[in-house]
Amino acid sequence: MATAIGEAERRTSGEIRVHLEDHIEEDVLVHAAFIFEELGMHRTKDRNGVLIYVSVADRKAAVIGDKGIHERVGEGFWRDVLAVMQLHFAADRASDGLCEAVRMVGEKLRDMHPYAHDDRDELSNEVSVG
Ligand code: CA
Ligand code: CA
Repeated sequence: MATAIGEAERRTSGEIRVHLEDHIEEDVLVHAAFIFEELGMHRTKDRNGVLIYVSVADRKAAVIGDKGIHERVGEGFWRDVLAVMQLHFAADRASDGLCEAVRMVGEKLRDMHPYAHDDRDELSNEVSVG
């Protein structure tokens, strides 16, 4: 997964993170927003971090983009990414679903925040597990 994220980030200044948990009680979007903060994802220079959050046992997912991207893509894009992930999850292909989501987000980020020569890897590409 870190390889897929690194690959996507080679073409954009944006930052993608994947965070997995087993089970949650609260609303997945509310919880994912909390994790976004907790991982410090709002601290990127261009406010272009995107979190792909999955509660594995619940098969619930959320995709959250910081304001530098969210203001420009609109709700429809996040829904499309979620729909693609859910199709894979329903077929027990969780890792394919995550890779596909990373790819989709990477392409969108590339269009809006192209790679800059002075870009840094601001957020770890490793999957975090909560
Ligand atoms: Ca970067
Ligand atoms: Ca990164």
